[in-house]
Amino acid sequence: MKKQIAILGSTGSIGTQALQVIEEHADLYEVYVLTANNRVEELIAQARKYQPEAVVIANEAKYTYLKEALADLPIKVYAGEEALCQIVTEQPIDIVLTAMVGYAGLKPTMNAIRAHKTIALANKETLVVAGELINELASQNKTAILPVDSEHSAVFQCLAGEIGNPIEKVILTASGGPFRNFTLEQLVHVTKEQALKHPNWEMGAKITIDSASMMNKGFEVIEAKWLFGVRPEQIEVVVHPQSIIHSMVQFEDGAVKAQLGMPDMRVPIQYAFSYPDRLKSSFPRMDFKLCTQLTFEQPDTTRFRNLTLAYEALHQGGNMPCIVNAANEIVVASFLNDGISFLGMSDVIEQTMQRTTFIAKPTYEDYVATDAEARRIAQELITKSQQ
Ligand code: NAD
Ligand code: MG
Repeated sequence: MKKQIAILGSTGSIGTQALQVIEEHADLYEVYVLTANNRVEELIAQARKYQPEAVVIANEAKYTYLKEALADLPIKVYAGEEALCQIVTEQPIDIVLTAMVGYAGLKPTMNAIRAHKTIALANKETLVVAGELINELASQNKTAILPVDSEHSAVFQCLAGEIGNPIEKVILTASGGPFRNFTLEQLVHVTKEQALKHPNWEMGAKITIDSASMMNKGFEVIEAKWLFGVRPEQIEVVVHPQSIIHSMVQFEDGAVKAQLGMPDMRVPIQYAFSYPDRLKSSFPRMDFKLCTQLTFEQPDTTRFRNLTLAYEALHQGGNMPCIVNAANEIVVASFLNDGISFLGMSDVIEQTMQRTTFIAKPTYEDYVATDAEARRIAQELITKSQQ
């Protein structure tokens, strides 16, 4: 029996690489659902190639076009957010890969957990926004959440065979992004074109900006807390520009385990699909004749304040990480529209954290309200700064 996979966000960077993994192991995996937000042409091409049971386009305006384009095939076609939340619960699905971007991942992920689907989690924003709620749901429903993010997959791989051995520290590596060596003065003027050029990884626009601003690493700290049950003080970030060590775990005897490899997201995607097995792959291998230097630096939180803001949010807990995520989605969208400067993003996030209603023990409805409130406040702050 082939495992049936639902890919939420199949037209994106993670989504398309997941399809390569499935193609490489067509004897083991089959696409059950493909979904996209806007890119209807790509979705049509994917549907023709992989012949899923169903496709969903989040943007309802594109429904008729999609439906007509696939009219000659026995593929069910749906549109809208609600359809996305429903489709993940379909009985034959084994694994849901959450590869869409942002807060939009939260609700479908919750539904997939309730329907007892294994979650291959790329959408880190889900755990940033509502990690406690997601963990509760997952344990109530006995659902596994397997990390796809390369750092967390590395930690997860380091933990294999270590049941009962407490973690002393999780050490997340960060490439440092395109601005690693920029001074604060240089950072004042950086453009989105510069920020969109990541040295080691090809990713979607939002996460590429998050990587340049270090918010991505801040989110990964929060993600690590919920995935591995560690306290904030136990999570360390080290800048490792080569992106060869994907992350590390230090145990109570002082031993450190690291997971290394090429920067290739297909490896962690495949591991989440095949866990606990490893499958033979054709992906490029490490060559230590070419990789002669692995270096490490401390992150600079004066130039990259987002990392500090994320730790602060984690310490405060409650809905504060949800506030940071919402503000970040607004500032990143604005930065990509030339509406705010690179450093201005951290200012708006910090002020949004101060102004949004704090809730210590949020329910799902509280998260929805917080997300809306924080987005509104962040948008107002941007508009004011433009006047
Ligand atoms: P991307 O922008 O390349 O692709 C996003 C996908 O999600 C697209 O298919 C898009 O159609 C869909 N989508 C976007 N907004 C949506 C919405 N509101 N509703 C439904 N679908 C929507 O992004 P990506 O780089 O593939 O990243 C996806 C997720 O994986 C993000 O959460 C990111 O943080 C995480 N991640 C990515 C990488 C990477 O290497 N790209 C690594 C680690 C984690
Ligand atoms: Mg990562």
